[in-house]
Amino acid sequence: MIPRNKPRNQTRTYFTNPLTLLDKLHLSTEQVNFSKQACDDFHFKVPQAYADKIRIGDKDDPLLKQILPIINETHAQVGFSDDPLEEAKSLSQPGLLRKYHARALLLVTPSCAINCRYCFRRHYPYEDKGHLGEQIKKNLQLIARDSSISEIILSGGDPLSLSNSKLAELFTLIAAIPHIKRLRIHTRFPIVEPTRINPKFIKLISNTHLQIIMVLHINHAQELGLDNQASIAKLHQQGITLFNQSVLLKGVNDNVDTLVELSEQLIQYQIIPYYLHTLDKVRGSQHFCVSETEIETIYQALRNTLPGYLLPRLVTELPGEKSKIPFVSKVGK
Ligand SMILES: *Cc1c(COP(=O)(O)O)cnc(C)c1O
Ligand code: SF4
Repeated sequence: MIPRNKPRNQTRTYFTNPLTLLDKLHLSTEQVNFSKQACDDFHFKVPQAYADKIRIGDKDDPLLKQILPIINETHAQVGFSDDPLEEAKSLSQPGLLRKYHARALLLVTPSCAINCRYCFRRHYPYEDKGHLGEQIKKNLQLIARDSSISEIILSGGDPLSLSNSKLAELFTLIAAIPHIKRLRIHTRFPIVEPTRINPKFIKLISNTHLQIIMVLHINHAQELGLDNQASIAKLHQQGITLFNQSVLLKGVNDNVDTLVELSEQLIQYQIIPYYLHTLDKVRGSQHFCVSETEIETIYQALRNTLPGYLLPRLVTELPGEKSKIPFVSKVGK
C-alpha cells in the first residue's frame, strides 16, 4: 500500500533566504560557517519538502550540507574552475550538447528546484539564452535532420521547472521526430519537490507515446520520505523507468554504510542505482572533495557488500570524453 500524500493543491514554497531556514533549524550562522559571499556567488534555493527532511539542530545534517553556502566555498583552490567539463566547447550551438554518441542533450531551462552547492553548472553562463523558446525549436530542427540521434536528454537546470504546458509543447515536437526512440529526463523534482508530479503532469506523460526514462539525483537515503513514495508510485504507474545518480560528497555520503543504505532504500522504491559520480571540480565545491584513496576504499567495500544490481557505477566525467569513464585512482600502484 502506498500511503496517502499530504494535502492537495498546496502551492510550492521555497526557502530563498538561508537565514530563515537556519532559524527553522535552530542553528546560528556561526555554527554552520555560513557565508553571504558564497550565497551571492550562487543563490540559495531550497524547497519546503526538502527542508522538512533536514534534522533540527544538527549542523552536520547531510541534507543541510548539500545546500548551505559556507565560507570554504570562497577559498580559491588549484584545479577547481568555472566550467570543469569544458562544456562550452561541446555546445554545438546554445543549449544543445552533442558530446555523447546517439544522444543529444538539450538544456531547456536555467532554473532548478533546488540549488546544490556542488553543482558543476553553478557558474554556467545561462545568459547564452540557449534555453529560450525559439532556440529550443532550432535545436530540435537540427536533431530532426540527424537520424543518428535516437535519444533526447532533457537537462538544464531541471526540465521540470518548465510549466506543464511548455513541456507538453516540447513533448509534441520531440514525438514528431521519427528517429527519437527515447526521452530521458534528468530531474530532482520528484524527490525535492514531489508536489510537482501533479495530475496535469501525469496526464501529459500518459498522453505521449515516447518512452520516458527519468534519472533522479538522490545522494542520501534521508532525502526519501513518504511524500516521495507517492510521487514515485505515480511515475511507475505510467511505465516510466527510474534510475538514480549520486555524487560522492565529503560529509554527505562518503562512507560505506550511508551508500549501502541509499541503494537499499532506492530499490525499495523501485529506483535503480545507476551512477555514483566523483565530484566535478567546480569552483566553490572543494570542501566536498573525497580523496582518491578514500574513493577506492569506499567503493571496494561497497562492491563487497552489495549485490551487483544495487552497485552504482563509479564514474568520472572528463572534458572531451565521449562518455563518463570508470573511475581509476592515480594513487599508488
Ligand atoms: C552522464 C550524463 C548524461 C549521459 O549519460 P549516459 O547515461 O552515460 O548516457 C546525460 N546527462 C547528464 C546530465 C549526465 O550527467
Ligand atoms: S542542475 Fe542538478 S545538481 Fe545542479 S543545482 Fe540543479 S538540481 Fe542541483
